[in-house]
Amino acid sequence: MERVERCNILLFLLTLIMICNGAVASETNTPCDSLAISSADQRQHLADHLCYFAAPFGSVASNATHPDQLASLAHWQSADGHDLTFTHTLDTYWIQLKVHNPSENAGLWYLKLHYAPLDFVTFWATSGQEDRQIATGDQTPFGSRGINYRYYLLPILLESGQSKTITLKIQSAGALNVPLTLETTEHLIAESNELTLAHGIFYGAVLIFSVFNLLLFFSSGTIYYFYNAFYMVSTGLFLCAMGGFAYQYFWPNSPWFANAAIPLFEALGTLAMTLFGRSFLDINDKRSIAYWALNAIAGVSVVLLALVLVLPYSTTIIINTLFGLIAIGCLFMTGLVRWRQGYGPAKWYVLSWSMMVIGTCVYALAAFGFLADFVAQEILMQGAVGGQVLLLNYAIVQRWRLLNQKLLEVEYDVKHDLEKKVYERTAQLRDTMRDLERANRQLAELSTHDDLTGIHNRRFLDGMLPDICAEARRIGKSAAIVLLDADHFKKVNDSWGHPFGDLCLQRIAEILTRHVRRPRDVVARFGGEEFALVLPNTEEDGATNVASNILHDMAKTTIKTPDGGAISLTLSAGIAVLQTGESDAALFARADEALYRAKAKGRNRFEVATIDQDAEA
Ligand code: GH3
Ligand code: MG
Ligand code: MG
Repeated sequence: MERVERCNILLFLLTLIMICNGAVASETNTPCDSLAISSADQRQHLADHLCYFAAPFGSVASNATHPDQLASLAHWQSADGHDLTFTHTLDTYWIQLKVHNPSENAGLWYLKLHYAPLDFVTFWATSGQEDRQIATGDQTPFGSRGINYRYYLLPILLESGQSKTITLKIQSAGALNVPLTLETTEHLIAESNELTLAHGIFYGAVLIFSVFNLLLFFSSGTIYYFYNAFYMVSTGLFLCAMGGFAYQYFWPNSPWFANAAIPLFEALGTLAMTLFGRSFLDINDKRSIAYWALNAIAGVSVVLLALVLVLPYSTTIIINTLFGLIAIGCLFMTGLVRWRQGYGPAKWYVLSWSMMVIGTCVYALAAFGFLADFVAQEILMQGAVGGQVLLLNYAIVQRWRLLNQKLLEVEYDVKHDLEKKVYERTAQLRDTMRDLERANRQLAELSTHDDLTGIHNRRFLDGMLPDICAEARRIGKSAAIVLLDADHFKKVNDSWGHPFGDLCLQRIAEILTRHVRRPRDVVARFGGEEFALVLPNTEEDGATNVASNILHDMAKTTIKTPDGGAISLTLSAGIAVLQTGESDAALFARADEALYRAKAKGRNRFEVATIDQDAEA
């Protein structure tokens, strides 16, 4: 869309009349006044004095090599205070500005064209005999500009009272924007300094953040750090190329790349922002639209990247810019959806992307010629990208925090689970130990007790008798042993059966236990119907007393037989008291011998063992 208004009809007619009369020279036959310059002028004022006309592609005027050749061809129009922004066009634009210096002093001014990506820019400054020409543009090596500056500068030296006609011829495959200002050296330096600071901060920040993210990627292996660095670098390079810095510093002798770099970095930026968005927003669900949309955008941007090398710049710049805008929109929407889905870091992503959306829209409008004031646009875009970079990095920190929090939760859960398991296992172990102990106790009990009667068994007797004897010898006290045997027990079994015999054995054990009351006394069954009493610290009197009582008790106890009758059993006993120096085996043998004698003497009686003279010796 051309934003320039039609000529004022009156002015046009006046001009026609002037041309017909030949009253003015060819360089003055424009509807624009000469600009009196004695100080730095603002652009707004300059635009009031600018005239231009568009020569269609291939026309004679478009091929003219000097303003002189335009005399009869030019149809100058006044810019009428408007900015010269013409979007994408194949036309060649001629622009003219007449200046004079009404002051008494000579002065130097610069005509500044601050829009870098123009293919061919030719300046002429004519005044009488003087006819200076600068042919430049980013399709000629950077050195052609004369002054080492990213924008185009034409120095204009005006003596006192001198007039000059400045003519520009511009052709470009991209948007044809011609923002012109006239500046003094001081103004130019001051503005350049201010902008240098702004650019320095911006590109410095982008560089530092990129390097930092790369380092984070190398150390952590987290891919979105890499994509973030990739995005910042490509966006930074894109702005660098648009601003003319890239051509000035990176590839000043490669006019082809001066053009191609712009759509190339656009496509790279689109690819990077898509990959970053996909990974940062955690778009992994293959069933989601976002997953396919972002993958498709990434795929297309790779194709567009390749197309930059094949298709003309005028085509790729439009396709890549539009596609970049679509990608930004899609990513913004994806961020919004993820935010609504409750994904925390998406909030910061959306916030940062809003800045990008606003910045890019303004920048695209400016680049395509819909907005003027390119310096302000550039700063605005850098501010937007800078803000976005900051917010994106903050979003990364938020995401990291969220991950860390989750990790801590998982760690806590695992620890908690582990503690619970350890507690459970310990409790299980404790129970098992208790069971084992109980079983051991039972086993020990079983191994030292008689199943049938519950009193101690032979094993226990064999184990404790030597200890009792040793202790008695050590402390000089006595110990006695009483061996008891049921009389005619075979008959009991034979008459009423084995189970009844068992019952009788239990009764005998009960009677024995009843009569042996001292804590350290032991009652044991050491054979079928044979029992033993071990009585520590007991003399012969005590032992005979116990044996006599037992025998009496037994004889008067009746036991009911299975056939309804009742019997009473008798016991015979042999008693031996430990002699000085006697072994437990000898003691036992003497008691056994006494028992034998009791049996022999008619049963139901006890005999005390004789003293073994050999053992005594
Ligand atoms: P004596 O007066 O000479 O001791 O005669 P006795 O019949 O008691 O002696 P003998 O040694 O001939 O028999 C012992 C009997 O004791 C043999 C057996 O039937 C019985 N007996 C041994 N152990 C058990 C047991 O555990 N239960 C039962 N019911 N009887 C047993
Ligand atoms: Mg016997
Ligand atoms: Mg017997």
